[in-house]
Amino acid sequence: MKKIGILTSGGDAPGMNAAIRAVVRTALVNNIEVVGIHKGYLGLHEGEIFPMDRSSVSDIIQKGGTILKTARFPEFAQPEVREKAAQVLKIYGIEGLVVIGGDGSFRGAKGLAELGIKTIGIPGTIDNDLGYTDRTIGFDTAQNTVIDAINKIRDTSSSHQRVSVVEVMGRDCGDLALYAGLAGGATTILVPEKKFTKEEIIKTVMDGKRQKKHHNLVVIAEGVGNSDEIAKEIEEISGIETRLTVLGHIQRGGAPSAYDRILASRMGHRAVELLMEGKSARVIGTVKGEIVDYDIHEALTIKRPFNEKLYQIAMDLV
Ligand code: ADP
Repeated sequence: MKKIGILTSGGDAPGMNAAIRAVVRTALVNNIEVVGIHKGYLGLHEGEIFPMDRSSVSDIIQKGGTILKTARFPEFAQPEVREKAAQVLKIYGIEGLVVIGGDGSFRGAKGLAELGIKTIGIPGTIDNDLGYTDRTIGFDTAQNTVIDAINKIRDTSSSHQRVSVVEVMGRDCGDLALYAGLAGGATTILVPEKKFTKEEIIKTVMDGKRQKKHHNLVVIAEGVGNSDEIAKEIEEISGIETRLTVLGHIQRGGAPSAYDRILASRMGHRAVELLMEGKSARVIGTVKGEIVDYDIHEALTIKRPFNEKLYQIAMDLV
C-alpha cells in the first residue's frame, strides 16, 4: 500500500479529528502517502483531494467537528456516481480509503469496496446506533454534553419545582437518552425501542409530586417524536409547570472527551494496519474494550441491541 485517502461523511461527531490524526500519522510512520478528501463523498466525486503531512493534523486532537468537513451526498447511492468516484481514486493512485462516519457512510464504503477500492470504516457518530460495536466515536462526548445541560436545567427547574422535559438526539437509537438519562438522574426515559403510554409518564410525574420531589426530569430521544405535545400533556394533566428544552446541535460539538480521543486514536491506528494487511470492506469497532473489525456487509445487518439492564437500573433508581 503506497497511498491512502481519508474522508469524513454524514453527521459530524467529536473525536473525528483525533481519528483523522491517527490515520495520517500511522500511515506516515509506515511510509504510506496520505491524501485528505474534503466534504465526504461529495468532495471525492468532485476531486477535492489534497496531500496531508504530519503537520496537517497538528493541534486537532482536542477539537470537535472535522477538519476534513463533511457533507450529505445522497447521489452516492447511485452506482454511476460511485463508479465516477472510484475512477477519481484510481486516477489519484489512491489504493486504500478510510471512511469515518455512520451507517450511511458505511453503505457508501461498501459500494466502493465492490468496485475494487480497499475501504475501511471507522464509526463516527454521536448516536451509538451501530450494532456491531459497543461504542462509536463521539457518543461519550455527547453524553457528557447532555449531562452538563441537564445539570443546568435541573438547577433552575428545581428552584421553580417544574417538570423538565429534555429532548436529546437519537432517531432510531435511544442510547444517548438512556445513558445520559441514567447519568443525569432522569425520572422518565423515553426511547424509540421501548413502548410507553401517556398514563405511565403522567404516573411517574404524579408520584414525584406526591413524594415532594423538587424536580422531575423526563429525557426523550428525538426519535420518539412529539416532545412538545408530551410536555403540554404533562402540564395539563399534572397541573405542574412543565418546560421543554430541545438540546439540538450543541450535542454534536465540543472538545472530545478523553475516552473518545483514545478510542479514535486506537481505531485510526487499526484502520491503517488493516490496509497494510491488504484487508478491505472491514469496519472497526470496540467490543468489551478490545478493538475488533468486522466484515462491512455483516456489520450493517447487526441491529443495535437495546440495553434492557441499564434501562431497568435507571428505572429502579428513580
Ligand atoms: P451517516 O453516515 O452519519 O449515517 P448519512 O446516512 O447521511 O450519515 O450518510 C452519509 C453519506 O453516505 C450520504 O450523504 C451518502 O453520500 C452516503 N450514503 C448513504 N447511504 C448510502 C447508500 N445506500 N449507498 C451509498 N452511499 C450512501
